[in-house]
Amino acid sequence: MRIGHGYDAHRLKKGRKCILCGVEIPSDFGPDGHSDADVPLHALMDAMLGALALGDIGKLFPDTDEKWHMADSAELLRIVYKSVCSHGYALSNADITIILQLPRLAPYIDQMRARIAEVLEVDVSRISVKATTEERMGFTGDGTGIAAVAVVLLVDVRTLK
Ligand code: MG
Repeated sequence: MRIGHGYDAHRLKKGRKCILCGVEIPSDFGPDGHSDADVPLHALMDAMLGALALGDIGKLFPDTDEKWHMADSAELLRIVYKSVCSHGYALSNADITIILQLPRLAPYIDQMRARIAEVLEVDVSRISVKATTEERMGFTGDGTGIAAVAVVLLVDVRTLK
């Protein structure tokens, strides 16, 4: 088994789409960035890459490369997980926490879980998405930004046989 941890944070900007875990959330502002800035998916990819010591998404998809401009993070996640599988591992489970003050994410959590499960082609019971605020403290609390952390457990597929 291999465990991995990922963290990401982006500035929130008025007029940007708010795409979290591949789901568009109705909002006047969203994470700013080179790609679609899907913060929780960035954390999830870094957790997967970290578990296998394969570097990070900045190394795989550099923001200096126009190819990744406005990239769909769900597509990037598919690429990262394909790499995980090609190394002989499969996802046991992932646990993601999104940290922001607004908008409230509770109504969208199950949609986010389903979207990730669909991209990875795994059962939704393997995917946990949670959301929390930091009670108006710090950059997530005052609406400056959004952060996410992710932990994944990967299993060697040979042990599954
Ligand atoms: Mg990012």
